[in-house]
Amino acid sequence: MRCILCSRWSFAHICTRCQERFLKPDIKRFRLFKDFEVVSFYGYSEIEELLKTKHTYVGAYIYKILAANSFKIFAKNFTQKAFVVPVDDKISGGYSHTAILAKSLKSGYLKPLYNVLPAKNRINYSGKPLDFRLKNPRDFQYRGRAGDIVLVDDIITTGTTLKEAYSVLKKAGANPLFALTLATAKS
Ligand SMILES: [Zn+2]
Repeated sequence: MRCILCSRWSFAHICTRCQERFLKPDIKRFRLFKDFEVVSFYGYSEIEELLKTKHTYVGAYIYKILAANSFKIFAKNFTQKAFVVPVDDKISGGYSHTAILAKSLKSGYLKPLYNVLPAKNRINYSGKPLDFRLKNPRDFQYRGRAGDIVLVDDIITTGTTLKEAYSVLKKAGANPLFALTLATAKS
């Protein structure tokens, strides 16, 4: 196949050269709450075109490659037991992009739980302002384990989704430690 970035022949959808050149994480951390931090690996605009592949079948491969360059490396250096909970990992087009990210964290310490935080409201937030997001909550349900949780999503924009997920987990008796997202639209 050809690399989708440079069009050279490659064994993966993004060649090794382009992965080294473009997918080195630029880690950003910020506080969503006093004791809850979000860690992001890329600026949204840096990988926008790649993130948009999640609506196509190629997205499953692209998200695996993005996760291998970021989440997977993070997991190798993380030595605290916790469950990994992807935000609304419903299957669409044969895969779930947040489940792919969660799976890449799997280690002796981190155990992904799938389909435990579904959104009852599947409204599309893309491009919507903050007040719209606040008026239309995702209405998450948590049916996973209690205990320490690492929340996973692909993009953080306003933080509304992660804040809501955090509250739902707390109310269910779980302990969200922090969140990991591939990209941040916050500067
Ligand atoms: Zn390439």
